[in-house]
Amino acid sequence: MDTPNTALTLMGVPIHDVTMEETVGWIGRWIEKGGAHQVATVNPEFLMRARDDAEFRACLEQASLCIPDGIGVLLAARLRGCRLRERVAGSDLVPRLAREAAARGWRVFFLGAAPGISEETAARLLKAYPALQIAGCYAGSPHPDEDDDLVERVRAARSDLLLVAYGAPKQDLWLRRNLHRTGAAVGIGVGGSFDFIAGAARRAPRWAQRLGLEWLVRLIWEPWRWRRQLALPKFVWLILLGRDGD
Ligand code: UDP
Repeated sequence: MDTPNTALTLMGVPIHDVTMEETVGWIGRWIEKGGAHQVATVNPEFLMRARDDAEFRACLEQASLCIPDGIGVLLAARLRGCRLRERVAGSDLVPRLAREAAARGWRVFFLGAAPGISEETAARLLKAYPALQIAGCYAGSPHPDEDDDLVERVRAARSDLLLVAYGAPKQDLWLRRNLHRTGAAVGIGVGGSFDFIAGAARRAPRWAQRLGLEWLVRLIWEPWRWRRQLALPKFVWLILLGRDGD
């Protein structure tokens, strides 16, 4: 079997019931085999967007793996009678993959975020995992005019794993347009993960993450995000009404 089974679809988007370790396992198999596998870290904001945006929905439908990143996704699945085993947060996946990459010799490219952030992210991960092979770091831009230049950088660096931090949906659409041309076997849209690892943004404390309240801490710290965060209650409401389009 080349891809994991879909546990359910929400707003037309397949969600895979994978744990962190299974996610790392799939990524490892794909890197060994080659090809171009896209991984998306799906939260309620993704799903609300996919509901209205056919291009983004198609992008997630075609991804090899849509991991449940967001307590709202687990909650919605539960309301639909499906118990997903684990929340797999993109911000946790990046350091876990850096450890695996260091152990298995994968070359990792860090693309996106503000200038200097990808370099700082790579430097911190290298400190934690000195055997990590950094293929490259580059901020660039998700604008399609820049695609050829960025693809060439990633390709020339002989990258195995490409982490793209342009936020959703730009990072995921970038991967859909370009991953197959980069030579990287796996590409993942990692949102704000580089900002957390580089220390440019603070992650909610562990206790809040464990209680499923990371979104609340983020709302308190970054109140200007409230409009975006309305996606969560709207999403739960639509699921409760059974209007999630599935
Ligand atoms: N970002 C970027 N270029 C853009 C838009 C966003 O490099 O045109 C970066 C931004 O600097 C941040 C990351 O994308 O590091 C994710 O942003 P955000 O926190 O909005 O994403 P989320 O984690 O909510 O998906």
